[in-house]
Amino acid sequence: MDAAALAQITHGIYILGAADDKRFVGCVVDAVMQASMKPLVIALSCMNTGFTKHVVDKTKRFSLSVVDEAVSPFVIANFGFQTSRLVDKWSNVNYLEKEGLPFLKETLAGFTCRVLSVQPFESHTVYLAEVEDAWLGKDGICLTYQAYQNGFKAQVFSAFQQYLKEKEMTEQKYEWVCTLCGYVYDEETPFEDLPDTWVCPLCGAGKDAFEKRLIQK
Ligand code: FE
Repeated sequence: MDAAALAQITHGIYILGAADDKRFVGCVVDAVMQASMKPLVIALSCMNTGFTKHVVDKTKRFSLSVVDEAVSPFVIANFGFQTSRLVDKWSNVNYLEKEGLPFLKETLAGFTCRVLSVQPFESHTVYLAEVEDAWLGKDGICLTYQAYQNGFKAQVFSAFQQYLKEKEMTEQKYEWVCTLCGYVYDEETPFEDLPDTWVCPLCGAGKDAFEKRLIQK
């Protein structure tokens, strides 16, 4: 079997959005299709590893924004190359909120969907979802997955490198220091997440003896 044949099936590029309590999450998806007219149902496939997928499983609701050829490469890098677990991706782009879900402001169309059924596979999960609302946005031409692969991807990579560089330059880094003995906390668990019963491994002082200090570069 030649798996490259699968690349000849046309896909678009879409931003999948979901709401995790009060926080919006999102990622890039390519496998979206209309599956039924009556009722209006779409099929969506996404990778099992994503945080946004995990939120869709929990809330059974998601939004789709249709990406067009004039999109800023950063938008795809932002949603595609980092995780919503750690980054508030929507705060990095122009977005609007409808019925509690986030959409790209510069979208060709927007869909609000409710999950009807879920078919999990080893790598991906397929959702059938009812379209609760659909609307047209800006004029433009859909960015196909093929167009993304043939040329656009390089721009997306360089936009992401630029973003990381700028982030590194502006991000202030902190460390937690014991004010009694000078011990600098450097374990994997974020200091804020340590239990209140945690004590300084050097002098036994409680968490409240620790001070957040800016690391000087
Ligand atoms: Fe200490």
